[in-house]
Parts: sequence; structure tokens; C-alpha cells
Amino acid sequence: MELLKKTAVEMRKALLAKEVSAVELVNETYKRVDDVEEKIGAFNSLTKEYALNVANEVDKKIAAGEELPKMAGIPLALKDNINLKGYKTTASSKILENFTSPYNATVSKKLAESFVPVIGKANLDEFAMGSSNENSAFGKVHNPYNLNKVPGGSSGGSAASVAALESAVALGSDTGGSIRLPASFCGISGFKPTYGRVSRYGLIAFASSLDQIGPFGRCVEDIVDLYETIAGYDEKDSTSLNMPAGDISKTFKNDIKDLKFGVIKELMAEGVNDDVKRAIEDAVKIYEKLGATVKEVSLPLLKHSIGVYYIIATAEASSNLARFDGVKYGYRTSEAKNLMEMYTKTRKEGFGDEVKRRIMLGTYALSSGYYDAYYKKAQQLRRLIKEDFDRIFKEVDVLVSPTCPTTAFDIGSRNEDPLAMYLTDIGTICANLIGAPAISIPAGFDKDGMPVGMQLISQILQEEPLLRAAYNFEQETDFNTRFANL
Ligand code: GLN
Repeated sequence: MELLKKTAVEMRKALLAKEVSAVELVNETYKRVDDVEEKIGAFNSLTKEYALNVANEVDKKIAAGEELPKMAGIPLALKDNINLKGYKTTASSKILENFTSPYNATVSKKLAESFVPVIGKANLDEFAMGSSNENSAFGKVHNPYNLNKVPGGSSGGSAASVAALESAVALGSDTGGSIRLPASFCGISGFKPTYGRVSRYGLIAFASSLDQIGPFGRCVEDIVDLYETIAGYDEKDSTSLNMPAGDISKTFKNDIKDLKFGVIKELMAEGVNDDVKRAIEDAVKIYEKLGATVKEVSLPLLKHSIGVYYIIATAEASSNLARFDGVKYGYRTSEAKNLMEMYTKTRKEGFGDEVKRRIMLGTYALSSGYYDAYYKKAQQLRRLIKEDFDRIFKEVDVLVSPTCPTTAFDIGSRNEDPLAMYLTDIGTICANLIGAPAISIPAGFDKDGMPVGMQLISQILQEEPLLRAAYNFEQETDFNTRFANL
């Protein structure tokens, strides 16, 4: 257990010092999975053969004294909407229940090239649609800090596995907050890079203008190392940024005296839980103590971000999900009298309720007569929101807010009310709408012992000051070194 409490950086040291082998580390991880997985439900499937093969290779290289990439041998959970060749990729949907990936996502290829043992495919809300991981066709995920609470979504399995010590790090995808929200609810760090920094090739598309893959970890250094492992240009993704991903590891430990912080007024207002608010106020004091400048900033258009997001995201989803028709791959209904019935029955039986709701909303927003009133309006507002942020980023480097107005909520408490669920994302969605990098880091606990997450956002491509701000805060606090009592 003590071994599994180590961060990836510490695990690497232990591997290189030959205190533990990579195979032992993977086996210990699976022992932990055996012990706690029944309570947590973080994984849709395990990839034991894959992980042990990679670990074996790592051990051979260490024995031969070869140089190893930073993340080599570190047990990782892969969100189950990212393809791993030869293994199932289900997106937690019945429609892909028996789908085996015929190819690797670019991030999976990069993980393989860095000898990262993938422990298993992590549970998620179906097609990454949700904020609580209650929408999975393969069971809910439970929060390691309190099993009656949600872990956040949609990358709930990825986050819970790291918090429950079933993996050291994880990858998730973030369309409107799906990395940051579960990181915040599970007391770990989760990072969404600038749109286009990490290839989306092989990620099952939800809303293509918003989707971005990113890392989870128990410390900022692990986040930086994993980000550098997966980032970079990829010709297979037409939205991939054709520029170097930057060498953050060289400078993110420097001080932050040069940085200006802006606390987002609208995200500290009414409706924010008292304990959450206090945690962020305390965090701000730490930044001031470290010599940074802090002021309050206002983003008046932020309040429209949920409406804008749920039109754009559902519109794009309705188009992306058209490919699941029972013809090319995935589930097909067993009885249909004709082609039309085959399509409709396959989709009716294969998709869950939330996915159907989104397809209907998105199709409506795109249909002629409504396109101008909804979709076009939403795109125009998206532009104005971006201009609002551009204006603020002329004054400050890093924006500060709670990741979510509350800590993790009870399982079942919001699932019957889609609007209440959508409101969970008020703090996170804006970063996706503008394409900016954003991170959630542990910032305290509420009176019931549930983790509070602080969100930092910076201007597009400005990952370095963002991660430097996160690292410096972490050095001043010990929130990331506490563990859930399971
Ligand atoms: N909670 C948001 C949604 O349901 C965001 C999901 C995500 O980032 N994948 O769409």
C-alpha cells in the first residue's frame, strides 16, 4: 500500500533505484484493484496482459541500464472512450459493448512508446455525457472519499481510480469539464490542455470543437510529465496544433512573483458553497504571500456559457453519433423488418436516456428554421465570451475560481433533473468554449471531509504559467498528500 501511495515521480525513483520492479508495481496495483474495485467501480475492463508485458519490457531496460522515458512503468488508467488496440473500447455504451479497437489512439501509441503500463479502461458517463458518472451503461462509479457520493464526470472512473490508488495517473477527456470536475470531487489534479495540444485521433468524438484529452495525477509534477508524454502535433488530427508543445518541465518550479491572478467574481457569487468559497479565499492569500498580484475580475457573459455549451455540444454530438447505426460496427438490434427499423431499433436499444436526450436537442438546434435562432446564436455568443476573456487576459495571467460551486453530491440527487446536473458545469465550460488550458487542483476539504477543487485558467497556449501557479500552490499546502479512507 505504501508503494501505491507514491506519486509517479516517487515511483520512478523507486524503479530506478531497483527498490521495486515494474512488474511488482503493476501486480501491487492489481492487488489493490482486487481489494477495492467492488466498492468503486472505476474500471469497465482490465488490461492485465498489456500492462504486464509493458512492465516486463521496462524491467529489462532497467536491468540493461537503458535510459527510460519519464512515465515508463507508471500504472495508468485509460478512459474507455480512448482506443487501445486489441482491447475493448465501449465509451460506457451498450452500443459499443462488444467493440474491440482495431487501432491505437495517438495518445495510446505515445503511451506505448513511453512504456506506460495501461492497467485498464476506466468507466465514464456514456459517450462522456454527464457530470457524475451515473450515466454509464456498466454501472455507477463511487467517490473514494464517500461511497454514497458521485466521483464527478464524465471521467469519473479515471479520477476515482487515481484517488483510490488503483492507478498512479490516468487519462481522461474534457469537453465541458470532464477532467477538472472529477479531479475536484476526488481530491486529485486534472488538467485540460489548450485545444489542439493533444491529438484527439482515436478518441471517440463527443463535441469535436470542444473535446480535449488530458492527464490526472496526485501532484502537479506528474501532470506535467504525463502531459509532455502525450502532447504534440499529429497529422492524423486536423485540429492538432502544428507547433512544439513547449518544455514546461524546465520552468514550472520557478517562482510566481511575475504572475497576476484574477479571481472570477461571477464564480464566487451566490450559490457557491461556504466551505468552497473559503477554500478559494485562503488559496488567494497564499498567492499573495508568494508575491503574486491578485485582483477581482468580472466576466459578465460567463452566465451564458451553459446555454451556449449545451447547444453547441449537443449539435456536434448529434452529428458525431450518427455513425452508430448498426451497420458499420457496434451493436445491432436482433429483430428488424427493414433497414429503417434496423436503424431506429438499434439506436433505441443501444443508446441510454441522456445520449438520446442530447441527440434530440442537437438535432433540433441544427434543423432548418431553428438553426439561426439557436446554433448560430450560440456560436455568436461563444465568440463574445471569448472576447470577454481576451480582454481580461490583457490584465491578468491566471484566472482563479472554484472548479465547481459545490463538493461531490449524493448519488441519485441530481440524476432525475438534467438541468440541475448541467448547472454543475458552470465553472468549467468556459475554458472549453474558448479553447484555453485549465487545471483543477486540491484546495481543501468541506466540513464533511469532501475534497474542494480550485480551478486555474490561462490564455490559450499559456500552459507554463498555469502549471507554475498550480505547482507553487501545491508546495505551500498538503491537500494533495491526503488519501481517501477506503
Ligand atoms: N458535464 C458536461 C456534459 O455533460 C461535460 C462533459 C465532458 O466534459 N465530457 O456535457
